[in-house]
Amino acid sequence: MTTSDPRKMLSQLKNKPQKLKRFEKYNLPKERKCGRHTAKCTRCGRTGVGGFVGKYGLRYCRCCFRDIATKLGFKKYN
Ligand SMILES: [Zn+2]
Repeated sequence: MTTSDPRKMLSQLKNKPQKLKRFEKYNLPKERKCGRHTAKCTRCGRTGVGGFVGKYGLRYCRCCFRDIATKLGFKKYN
């Protein structure tokens, strides 16, 4: 199961309807309204606590922000 999309797991269970039913009932993570798992990168789907850039409505993780910051117009001062 990946953190980016746990429903990828469902494609493996297509041919096993009974197991699919059981998986959906017990193992799918619930939809969250608040908390750390709602901070999700729009580019790669990474979740977690550290390094989430939500400022200015960007919603990128630290890795993706580092990749495309210069394209967006950010400049590094140091
Ligand atoms: Zn990302």
